[in-house]
Amino acid sequence: MPDKKRILIIEDEPKIAQILVDFFQMDGFETSVLHDGMHAVDEIRNNEPTAVILDLMLPYKDGISICREVRTFSNVPILMLTARVDEIDRLTGLGIGADDYVCKPFSVQEVVARVKVILRRAEQPAPTTSSLIGYKHVQMDLEKFVCYVDGNQIELSPVEFRLLTAMINKPSVVFSRDNLMRAGYEDDRIVSSRTIDSHMKNLRSKLSQFSETESILHSVYGIGYKIE
Ligand code: CA
Repeated sequence: MPDKKRILIIEDEPKIAQILVDFFQMDGFETSVLHDGMHAVDEIRNNEPTAVILDLMLPYKDGISICREVRTFSNVPILMLTARVDEIDRLTGLGIGADDYVCKPFSVQEVVARVKVILRRAEQPAPTTSSLIGYKHVQMDLEKFVCYVDGNQIELSPVEFRLLTAMINKPSVVFSRDNLMRAGYEDDRIVSSRTIDSHMKNLRSKLSQFSETESILHSVYGIGYKIE
């Protein structure tokens, strides 16, 4: 990936293409321009722009066909320009794979801002698909609903499992009994503080059954509990 971000502008109206070029360059982007759709797909395949601004109506090949073809080999962010606002609904419904749509006439600042948004979105790392979480010697598999202490599987009730998941996801954060109530019961049930305390007591003893080391579950006097 080149250091400088390059926006490919595919737009057959020279004035519109030029004003986009000016504004993106002013914002520190490199730009390249195509005035028709003929070589658009090849250009994207061969030169991998950081993002594409794609007009819908183009000579030789329209924006929909281009977008569809590009999506068979690339996730490059694409912002599509349309001439009618009611086209946006239709295009979204077609699922052609553009990241955003802007209707002409547009404010150039808005186009630049929207491209930055889809670039930021594209740069974010894909969410991790792992269902494994853990802290110190305690490991949990959130898909299989199992919990291990030092590699030994321990039996947790569903409420205990949810409570422990919430706390292990945020080590060192002190959970009030109210927070734990919400984390442990999916149906917004109100239970007494003593119920939470008794779950915590059970959890602590289950977590320490195989472990020589100190329990990771701590009570914080007057507030609640934490994993640390
Ligand atoms: Ca056009």
